[in-house]
Amino acid sequence: MEHLRASEALSLILESVPLSAGETVRLEQSLGRVLAAAVSANRDLPPYDVSAMDGFAVRSVDVASVPASLAIIEDIKAGNMPTKTVQAGQCARIMTGAPMPRGADAVIRVEDTQALRAGDVQIDKTVKPGNDVRPRGESMKNGEVVLTAGTEITPGVIGVLATVKAAQFAVYRRPSVAILSTGDELEGMHDPVDPNKIPESNTYALMGQVQALGIEPVLLGIARDEPAELRRYLQEGLQFDVLLVSGGTSVGVHDYVRPTLEALGVQMKFWRVAIKPGHPLAFGRADKTSVFGLPGNPVSSMVCFEEFVAPALRQMMGNTRLYRRTVTARLAHPVKFRPGRTEFVRVQLSRDAAGYIASSTGSQSSGVLMSMARADGLMVIPSDSTGLAEGEQVTVQLLDGTVFQEEIGYRE
Ligand code: AMP
Ligand code: MG
Repeated sequence: MEHLRASEALSLILESVPLSAGETVRLEQSLGRVLAAAVSANRDLPPYDVSAMDGFAVRSVDVASVPASLAIIEDIKAGNMPTKTVQAGQCARIMTGAPMPRGADAVIRVEDTQALRAGDVQIDKTVKPGNDVRPRGESMKNGEVVLTAGTEITPGVIGVLATVKAAQFAVYRRPSVAILSTGDELEGMHDPVDPNKIPESNTYALMGQVQALGIEPVLLGIARDEPAELRRYLQEGLQFDVLLVSGGTSVGVHDYVRPTLEALGVQMKFWRVAIKPGHPLAFGRADKTSVFGLPGNPVSSMVCFEEFVAPALRQMMGNTRLYRRTVTARLAHPVKFRPGRTEFVRVQLSRDAAGYIASSTGSQSSGVLMSMARADGLMVIPSDSTGLAEGEQVTVQLLDGTVFQEEIGYRE
């Protein structure tokens, strides 16, 4: 099979993964979720015309020429309803958020007034009708849709939900995710240190990536490179919505993952993508499960997660922003590339007056996990590039926990 381009692989994945069903969550537990149904306002807000300032509610005609002296007829606090009508030559002292009294059509800020003898105030400024008045329904009108389905729940959105008294509401479910590592050479986290073994890290790095999307994965452990054992583990993994298997997807004689998945009824959609690191990526679908065969190399597995798994999981959870935010940076040093595949170089970002500067995190070997641990972002090198000079403009995907965008933002 030919290597797919990154965008082709991503399209196949995004066409295949289902949108999760809805479930009800409480407001307190909703941060980061995505609304599965629109939410409407349950009242006009503000419910009446209110003052936007601490000051005096006046008839604008009374302050057409200033200074003007007005008689204060009452004090209106936020939470109190006015009891009097403002007549010619009168005003009411009013606080921010308090309802406008009948008769008045504008507010003068306290800073534009001077206290006179008891009961009177001098107004030093003329204003137009409506000045510093927030009209009824300015924030929202009863019955109008304030949040559409597909809205990602940020702290600001939580505030709006609280405003319309949405104590619980429908969001898309989070898919269940299982993580499985494979390889005879791997030493489990809780195994004694054996100098001949390779410490297993993919399970945990992937766990962190899954958790960063708000999902708590189930860790299945390590399956040995033995078909019967691998089959048992994979079978267990196929109970989940998403199964991430790392290692054993390549062309080694003990790489049993793909044939075993196929034997279990997983329809493999592709294998191998023209990217570096991470080309032995495989993807398939079973009845309910989307299966990602991730490369065993620790950096490759993480990069494949970023580029292919994270967008899929976000799409399943109803997000419309699937991709890492991209920024433009200048390259701190020259780099050479072999054309033919899209490269994801781990970089650190610094800033100067002209913007971001990207520099490599060191050895870009797909086994050197430090390159990922140190990275602020992935610099994406188009597949036709043979190299870049110092100072050239590059696109960097930020490896930040929560910031995503709608466009993929780079050229492959
Ligand atoms: P594989 O894809 O199984 O051929 O593995 C490629 C490389 O990644 C080998 O050097 C493995 O030892 C290493 N590797 C595979 N799985 C893991 C893992 N879970 N943790 C750390 N290294 C791994
Ligand atoms: Mg292996």
